[in-house]
Amino acid sequence: MSASHSALVPEWLTAPAEANELVASVWPSSAHRVDDGSVEIAGVSVFDLRDRFGTPLYVLDEDEVRAHARRARDAFGAAAERHGIRSHVYYAGKAFLSTEVVRWVTEEGLAVDVCTRGELEVALAGGADPARLGFHGNNKSVAELERAVEVGIGSVVVDSPIEIERLAAIADRRGAVQSVLVRVRTGVHAETHAFLATAHEDQKFGFSLAGAADAVARIRELPSLRFVGLHAHIGSQIFDSAGFRESAARLVDLHADLLAGGEIPLLNVGGGFGISYTSVDDPRPIEEIADGIVDAIADECEVRGIPMPDVACEPGRVIVGQAGVTLYEVGTVKKVTIGEERERTYVSV
Ligand SMILES: *Cc1c(COP(=O)(O)O)cnc(C)c1O
Repeated sequence: MSASHSALVPEWLTAPAEANELVASVWPSSAHRVDDGSVEIAGVSVFDLRDRFGTPLYVLDEDEVRAHARRARDAFGAAAERHGIRSHVYYAGKAFLSTEVVRWVTEEGLAVDVCTRGELEVALAGGADPARLGFHGNNKSVAELERAVEVGIGSVVVDSPIEIERLAAIADRRGAVQSVLVRVRTGVHAETHAFLATAHEDQKFGFSLAGAADAVARIRELPSLRFVGLHAHIGSQIFDSAGFRESAARLVDLHADLLAGGEIPLLNVGGGFGISYTSVDDPRPIEEIADGIVDAIADECEVRGIPMPDVACEPGRVIVGQAGVTLYEVGTVKKVTIGEERERTYVSV
């Protein structure tokens, strides 16, 4: 392969045998071609959508979103049931949030994660039960924390020592007891089929494993906060459970130590379950990943002789990714000659 070739095309990208194929793992299952060669999504012609709304247009297939939400709920539900615990699946709103999507996923039994005041208001406007919302972020403002406590948010995932003090003061002033999880940097970072496990991780989110123990101790001193569990999020586009299992081992280690200071009902393993962006992506089915994660937590708890906590997770793209299609209209098409004999075609939208 020449240097100029590799600069033009990523190595994994091969010319498809049929460029117009709707790859089943990428498109909504309702997408298909009709006789004139155009595409229908959920029984609606893309030309009708263009005529009605214009382009570019972002289209979501409701049935597809609901099906993925149910599948994630059932995958973790079945894995948890085998171990006699409960599971909580939070839709990670950052993947795509609108009031309709909130309504669909909550009707399918999912809780919702938000990470800004705006997302919080969208979730509430979409009818989410505040008690089933989680609030994330490394830089939540005092106003955001205030609003979260005011609406009775289910849990706040605290990310720094100063946030603990701010949140405790707000809850105290409001006479509330706020449930919190503690975000941990486990040192495990995963993507596709690989993961990296280090002792120290340079990233802005959360507490180190040692710092988390101090944070939990502080939370337990504060009457306006209630520590409910540890949280970690190890990456995105993760195709199997290996990285989750390593992270779970580290989390359960800390979780076991912390049990000396009181019971801990929950362990949250975050999101990052991968999807197919192209035909070459091959994520394992979510059922297999859920089993891998929940079984790993069960094993780690058994080794340490501790009761197994309920397990929470936060899938985002795996719920909405395959359901979303963006419609563009092709404008200018231009061929550009590069060097001796190579040519690239630019298709502008
Ligand atoms: C981004 C994010 C998620 C969801 O990630 P996906 O790759 O969309 O599943 C879940 N939890 C946290 C804390 C995140 O930052």
